[in-house]
Order: sequence, then C-alpha cells, then structure tokens
Amino acid sequence: MIIDPFFSQLIINWYHIFGRKKLPWQIQNTPYKTWLSEIMLQQTQVKTAIPYFKKFIKKFPNIISISKASIQDVLHIWSGLGYYQRAHNLHKTSKIIAEKYQGNVPDTFANLIQLPGIGRSTAGAILSLAFGYYYPVLDGNIKRIVSRYYGINTSINKYKTEKKLWNIINYLIPLYNTGIFNQGMMDLGAIICTKNNPKCNICPIKKNCISFSLNNFTSYFKKSKISYLRKIYFIIIQNNQLILLQRRSLYGIWANLFSFPEFDKKNNAILWIKKLNVSYKKQLIIHPFYHQLTHIKFHIIPIHIKLIKFKTNIINIKNNIWYNLIHPQIIGLPSPVKKILHFIKKNTLSNI
Ligand code: SF4
Repeated sequence: MIIDPFFSQLIINWYHIFGRKKLPWQIQNTPYKTWLSEIMLQQTQVKTAIPYFKKFIKKFPNIISISKASIQDVLHIWSGLGYYQRAHNLHKTSKIIAEKYQGNVPDTFANLIQLPGIGRSTAGAILSLAFGYYYPVLDGNIKRIVSRYYGINTSINKYKTEKKLWNIINYLIPLYNTGIFNQGMMDLGAIICTKNNPKCNICPIKKNCISFSLNNFTSYFKKSKISYLRKIYFIIIQNNQLILLQRRSLYGIWANLFSFPEFDKKNNAILWIKKLNVSYKKQLIIHPFYHQLTHIKFHIIPIHIKLIKFKTNIINIKNNIWYNLIHPQIIGLPSPVKKILHFIKKNTLSNI
C-alpha cells in the first residue's frame, strides 16, 4: 500500500475552500452538539438530520436536560428519524454523563467508548472535531473514499476489510488539523465521492485514485446483502378519534415505541380480533405498502376496524393505550405507524 504524503494536505486544502462550515452543529460548536450530530448522522443523511437536530437542541439545550427527560419525550422528538436504538442510547448515555461527568462529554477515548451508542468512529469524531485531538474517523463516507482510492474490492461489512480500512486511515490522518481532515473526508464523501456518479473530475485526490484510473466505481465499497422480506398485519382498532396502540418490547425493531397490534399471519390476526369479542362495522384493508429498514423489508398490511360500541376491557391489557388522533399524546412512534395514523386522522376528521 502506497501512502501519498500529500493526501491529508490535499483534503485539508479542499475543505478550506469547499467544505461545509455552517451546519447547525458547527455553529457555536460544543462537545454536546458534536456528540448529538454524530449519533444522528450514524444512519441518516445531513439534510434529513438538520431539522431533527434543531428540534432536539431547542427542546434539550444541554445534556442534563436530556437526562431529566422521559424516554417517551426523547422518542417523540426522534420520531420519523428511524433507527430508534440511537435515541434509547442517547438517553442512557445522557444519564451516565450527568451522573459520572457532571453533564460534560468525556474527552478520553477510554471513557467515550464505554458509553452506549458510541463506537470507535463516533468516539474519534467527538475527540477530533470537538476537542481537536489526534483521532481517526471511519464512517460510511470515509470508507467509500478509502475503498475506491486504494481499490479495495472485498465486502465492507467483513471484519478483515474493516480492519484494513482502519489501518489505512490511521496512516492517512495528519498529526495537526486532524479534525479539519476528518471533516474534509466526510464532506468529500458526501459532496464529491458520492455513492452514485462520483464527481471525479473535480476531486482533489483523483491523481492516485485506483477507482478513477480504472473508471470503475461499482467494484469497490461493496456490501454483502442480507436483506429479507417480512409480511406483517397491523390491526387498527378505532373508536371515534381513539386508536389502540401497544408499547413494543425493549428489544428488537422499534424497541419501546408504540405501534398497532401486529401479526405475521392473517389467520392469527383474525383469531385475535374474534377473541376481543367486540362489535365493529367491517374489516377494511387499507393500502398495503412496503417499508425498508437496513436488513429487512416489511410488507405492511393494515386491517382497519371501527368499533360500534366502546369496550373498556381492551385498554386493561398491559402496555395498551388509546391514542388520541385530535389531541395526540407525546410518545415515540415508528414511521409506518405515523404514516397510517396520519391517513386515518385525515379520513376521520372529515367524518366526525
Ligand atoms: S477520484 Fe473519484 S472515486 Fe476517487 S476518491 Fe475522488 S471522487 Fe472518489
């Protein structure tokens, strides 16, 4: 592997001219803002994260305020951003930071890496961007640049590839201006070395880039796919403006968020409705749709039931609530649930 001695300087020069310097978390930057933005950006693009970041900072201006909030308050602001485990980790970490570090983000790798939701790359980003320390970052954008530049064609979710990329980035980071270099690499990946149609002609490191010299952008930065399709039936029980929701378990997809009763087979769903022993107008299947997560695609079939007579015993089941469409409670909802509720609200309001 040849290390270009000018690599880091080319990135830093490019960043000074073309890099992003006015993102909301870069203005009056604090370690808290860097930590929050890094967690949001773990699975989300900058333009999607910005409004959520602004809402979050407005509601929780510092770590102590998150640590004192309920998880439902945090999930409420996070709703729609996806990958909800991040919000749970953020909440847990804020409590640890409040208790152990008096509300200040720790400034050592050893302490950061022990906090929920903070891995090696996020710790490196906090230390280099917020504290100006010499630590590398290896997020998705940087992995793509390094893979293409060095022509690494093995799957990036393999341990061996990951190890190789870390070794390379450890050589590439400069002793000084590490934070600027890391930010420059992230920006180059987001603006120039994009997933599709990289703009190589204006790339500062094109001279020694293998991908560019071979005009091949598809053989590098490959992920092995392990996605599969799962059919789920959501049962939507409606009583005027009230909708039955259940709190999900603490583990798995959409952990601790509120969702509709869910079944993987239609027969099981029908049987469950029968056991409720409620009278309703008719069962209606409303617009089935697909929802993609990283490794799983859901085929969601919502079955809508409008009760004729309100039955209180349904709500006695632990973790069930009646969600009010007109005066919604502050709770965390997965995006497909929000989408269905929005649809039902629109139709209900026109009929009430
Ligand atoms: S030359 Fe093209 S492929 Fe190589 S790093 Fe730059 S943008 Fe990416």
